[in-house]
Amino acid sequence: MTREEILVEISKVKRVCRGKPLFEQATRDSLTAKLGACRTDEHRIALLAHISTILDIKASLPADMGGHAIQSLIYSFKENCGHDFNKVISTYPFDGKIRDVKCPGCGAPQHFQSPSVE
Ligand SMILES: [Zn+2]
Repeated sequence: MTREEILVEISKVKRVCRGKPLFEQATRDSLTAKLGACRTDEHRIALLAHISTILDIKASLPADMGGHAIQSLIYSFKENCGHDFNKVISTYPFDGKIRDVKCPGCGAPQHFQSPSVE
């Protein structure tokens, strides 16, 4: 495939930046471990209070938030940036390399593998 043909293929899938993660990876790992260690409602409610403290939010998170919702929160993003990542991918060589880049729109760390031209 030529570079132009690959660009057409890339453009068939919409890729947009999801913005910055709500938590850094180390915090995600720590919270996920704490969530995994929850055995009772009291543990879960204590974890919710802990997350509220980290987020520095005054209102407490809903006490009935279940494990799945908490896991989704841990891996959520602050806001959708929406920057077109196909444009970013198209600025790099098509050499199959895995790249860690920062979103030009919001600065969030992003990760992708460049397509390779054969
Ligand atoms: Zn972004």
